[in-house]
Amino acid sequence: MNLANNIKSVEDNLVHTPCKLVIVTKMRPIQDLADLYALGYKIFGENRVQDMVEKYEALPKDIEWHMIGHLQTNKVKYIAPFVSIIHSVDSMHLLQEIDKQAKKNNRTIPCLLQIYIAQEDTKYGLTAHEAEQILASKELVLLQNIKICGVMGMATFTDDSKQVQNEFNSLKNIFFNLQKYSTANINFTEISMGMSHDYLIAVQEGSTMVRIGSLIFQS
Ligand SMILES: *Cc1c(COP(=O)(O)O)cnc(C)c1O
Repeated sequence: MNLANNIKSVEDNLVHTPCKLVIVTKMRPIQDLADLYALGYKIFGENRVQDMVEKYEALPKDIEWHMIGHLQTNKVKYIAPFVSIIHSVDSMHLLQEIDKQAKKNNRTIPCLLQIYIAQEDTKYGLTAHEAEQILASKELVLLQNIKICGVMGMATFTDDSKQVQNEFNSLKNIFFNLQKYSTANINFTEISMGMSHDYLIAVQEGSTMVRIGSLIFQS
């Protein structure tokens, strides 16, 4: 495994784009994250609360921790003190809990709404309409310790690049449509889309954050 070279080739493809690289470290041992840190990389994505907490405790404190996996309401409290951003918000109920825990920690937690764009049967994510209902709702105004910064989505896992492109394009259009909602706790700037196998398409379609794991850890 040559982490440095693998990351460099990804970074070469992100030059002249607004794209931030989130290195997905889920399932990787702490030593891998320490190696990344030694190379100067500090933006890590994890999908399980317990793993994120363990790694947070073991590693330097200037790392940006991105929660990218489905988040259960009863686990928000464990990551609320330190998480940098939550990509996977899929309900008003979860937002309310994030706000409550953020408040306890005297901070504001940035959040993205996870939008369901794939043709696959996945359990998580909002429709564009549900996302709009959240942004327009009166309850949202009460949440002063969150900030909704944009959307996250995953395309269908397929070799059909046209389909993937269409799905990312639809997420971009949803993003632009939702941008009209602007309050103290909504500021739409981020489109989190693109993984190892489809990030080049995502970048073309306007991604601002790619979440890449396996490509970086491959030998
Ligand atoms: C695992 C995962 C990724 C990274 O996937 P790779 O194919 O390893 O790049 C990105 N986003 C989410 C939500 C994930 O769960």
